[in-house]
Amino acid sequence: MKTGRLIWLWAVLIGVGRLGAFDLITRDEVPYVITWEPGTITLQLKLPAPTRALTDGASSFNASVQAAMQTWNGIIGTVRFDSSVPPAGPNTAGNRINEVVLADKVGGEDFAANTLAVTVSYTIGDNRVESDIVFNATRTYDSYRGPLRADAYDLQRIALHELGHVLGLGHPDEAGQTVTAVMNSRIGNLYELQADDIAGARTLYGAPATVPANDAFASAATIVVTSPGLSVTGTNIQAGKEAGEPNHAASAGGRSVWWRFVAPVAGRLTVTTLGSNFDTLLAAYTGSAVGALTPLAGNDDAETPEQNPGDNRVRTSTITFDVAAGVTYYLAVDGWDGLFGQITLNLALAAAAGSPPVITAQPVARTVAAGASATFSVTATGGVLSYQWYFNGNAISGATSADYTIAGAQVANAGSYHVVVSNFYGSATSNPVQLTVTAPSVPVAPSSGGGGGGGGAPSVWFLGALAALAAGRRFAAMRR
Ligand SMILES: [Zn+2]
Repeated sequence: MKTGRLIWLWAVLIGVGRLGAFDLITRDEVPYVITWEPGTITLQLKLPAPTRALTDGASSFNASVQAAMQTWNGIIGTVRFDSSVPPAGPNTAGNRINEVVLADKVGGEDFAANTLAVTVSYTIGDNRVESDIVFNATRTYDSYRGPLRADAYDLQRIALHELGHVLGLGHPDEAGQTVTAVMNSRIGNLYELQADDIAGARTLYGAPATVPANDAFASAATIVVTSPGLSVTGTNIQAGKEAGEPNHAASAGGRSVWWRFVAPVAGRLTVTTLGSNFDTLLAAYTGSAVGALTPLAGNDDAETPEQNPGDNRVRTSTITFDVAAGVTYYLAVDGWDGLFGQITLNLALAAAAGSPPVITAQPVARTVAAGASATFSVTATGGVLSYQWYFNGNAISGATSADYTIAGAQVANAGSYHVVVSNFYGSATSNPVQLTVTAPSVPVAPSSGGGGGGGGAPSVWFLGALAALAAGRRFAAMRR
């Protein structure tokens, strides 16, 4: 892995706010924008406690930064700011931890004149991997809305600006633009994100996602388990937690989505979230209502920190439980501490010993008059079975039952038929059988009046008669 590289120092300057579209931070001189991987950007908020009450009632400067984080979270899609609040202290450059601190120097040097704060960022390739925000300790701060005051700077709006740099936004005014934006280089009376700021951030991370279709238990996405190993994908971005919903893996979570499947056979199922890009919670249930589920298994982390001492960010969850053929199971994926992102769900089914279906009664050849119906049937053993009928070697759409009926068989339907019966373990192919369609003699019309009477049978007669006509006058000649 390459070492992170210091790429940009962005500062917000003291001055009069002024009015120029957004500017994106790019890699070197080429137009590759720098972004974070989808998921959570966690910042350690290490600002010291304020020495006097903050005007807006915020409990701390760290809380002011959190408010600014929530503002950005509300308008972007694939990433989300989150925070932890360790004791106040300095930042460490290049440690892959995003720190927000108050200091009188940045990287060992004094702040440039009129600089309130600096965001120092590191990147590998096109990925942002670390950003530290350093507020200038030689200035006086409060937390408030409205016009900029002379006695103290509003730390929240500075945080809003610096977090824009963390996301990958530059200064529009320094890119030759004249726009109204929090991201302009000079602080002013603006304390809310402007349209240009939002457009810039959404260029990098999209708009907030819509609620996933499988957010609710009752709307669980269906997995069809047709093979021993399969994966499905999804997201819990914008998902929520339902009233009465259990805590998955004994953790509060808060952004769950659901899948359901019917076990095709008995066996032992292992499910993992390997490949998901956030710290997941995973649990399995049976039951028919979100408030009345029977838990089967739950897991937060597949590996404990002791098992994986080199990485304290264990994200993958794994569960194993026994399944019974024909039973419906539910899987819930949530985010640890409400985290969210893209989900990969992997199922591996070690099926109990079993074997492919056995056909115990083969279909039999049929000979029917044109216009009559013909039915083929098969009987097989082997648990949960599926069927596919074929005509002259081609699968027949919709012919997926043990019986297949051709209503009103015509000459074109004559040919070879067979069926493949499948279960989880394999398949069995029936003997091919022939359908022969004979052209019937045109029946003598009943003396008691025509074939137009009510009921279904007479109309079949008419179909048969029409087919016979299609066969040509030769029949008529023979009848004579
Ligand atoms: Zn700036």
